[in-house]
Amino acid sequence: MSDEENPSEGELQALSELTDRLRDNYPFGSPSYAGQMLKPPHPVAWAAYAATTLINPNNHALDGGPATAQMEREVIAEIATMFGFEPSAVLGHLTSGGTMANLEALWIARELHPERPIAYGANAHYTHSRVCGVLGARGIEVPCDGDGRMDLDALERRLRHDRPGTVVASFGTTGVGALDPVREIADLCVRYDARLHVDAAYGGFFALIGEREPALIDVSATKALRRADSVVVDPHKHGLQPYGCGCVIFADPTVGRFYKHDSPYTYFSSAELHPGEVTLECSRSGSAAAALWTTMRAIPLTPNGGLGDMLAAGRQAALVFADAIADAPNLRLVYEAQTDIVVFAPYEEGLDAAATSEWTKRVFRTLMTDAQSPLFLATIRVDSAACEWLREGGKEVTVLRSVLMKPEHRARAAGFVETISRAAGAQRTPPAGHEPGASP
Ligand SMILES: *Cc1c(COP(=O)(O)O)cnc(C)c1O
Repeated sequence: MSDEENPSEGELQALSELTDRLRDNYPFGSPSYAGQMLKPPHPVAWAAYAATTLINPNNHALDGGPATAQMEREVIAEIATMFGFEPSAVLGHLTSGGTMANLEALWIARELHPERPIAYGANAHYTHSRVCGVLGARGIEVPCDGDGRMDLDALERRLRHDRPGTVVASFGTTGVGALDPVREIADLCVRYDARLHVDAAYGGFFALIGEREPALIDVSATKALRRADSVVVDPHKHGLQPYGCGCVIFADPTVGRFYKHDSPYTYFSSAELHPGEVTLECSRSGSAAAALWTTMRAIPLTPNGGLGDMLAAGRQAALVFADAIADAPNLRLVYEAQTDIVVFAPYEEGLDAAATSEWTKRVFRTLMTDAQSPLFLATIRVDSAACEWLREGGKEVTVLRSVLMKPEHRARAAGFVETISRAAGAQRTPPAGHEPGASP
């Protein structure tokens, strides 16, 4: 700043340019945005983050941010409790996101079983195959069933023949929100002496509503999360946080030995274990820990009355949305909605994959560009076999995907489907002069 009181002309000019630049965005905060897993952070998170940034603590070491390092411990204990772990027995920390958190989990997996591969579902986030590459670990892929869940028979064959040291289950896949059968996978891991890592980056907070009445999601899977050797969850997805907040938890705190290192220039303030001694990242945002801690004070991790209400609302929105799709003559569900993501397609008997993909893209664009009331969805490429009504031709098909992660979506879900069905009707045939596949 130019002086204590007033920003300079140049500073004001730069900020004004920023607000102009930021116009080039989709309306992530609007209820009409149901495209990707994106929404602004909760105002409490935003305020706590901004306030803490004035100090800018570094959670690398207790010296860098004693207050926020303590907050990090407290939020880890609460997240561990949410998964059914004994909070005092686990080792966990925040990370910059789910990718980093999964990297740490797979790194420990490789350290513990350097000779054995790591198995993950074909439905898993692409980060797992890439991280295996980074780590020089052999990754093997397990096929999915028709609902987008890991196929248990295929997993058992893999366990028997390839003897993976760790199996990665997805609790809430990024594409379709599927919940792998964690309990059955945990049983197989016991039988074949494999570790279990659960990537719950997207779906982890749904653990809160497994036991709400009436049951909103697969309670056997949520109850089995405590059987995992490690779990990853992203507070920056369903935990109302700004980006830069992931989390990894290990059931066995002795894996901390793999992180062991000595740093002559930090760690001088106490004999306690420093956060930087058990994280792969060095500098980490104390503001992220503060934002999550403050949010969890205001909106606790409870099934009712706290964050559970928000997850339940999104889940209910998905159920209403899916029912309405089932009733619409020109739309079809592609997967059963298992969380708050619904994947569906414009439908007409006898259509092939190419024509359906083109139709999908027209509907997607029309909805988004509607001058009066735009609706923002996403598209996703899936195996054509997932759309059993399609005529032969084309291995993949592009269909529509909607992430209903805002509580306001519950009241709007049925209206969304009406709008989409109308757009699908209007866009059934390409505008004159545009053949399917022709460039726009
Ligand atoms: C988002 C996501 C990731 C990657 O996490 P980032 O926070 O984007 O780095 C990994 N796995 C799953 C299941 C995810 O949904």
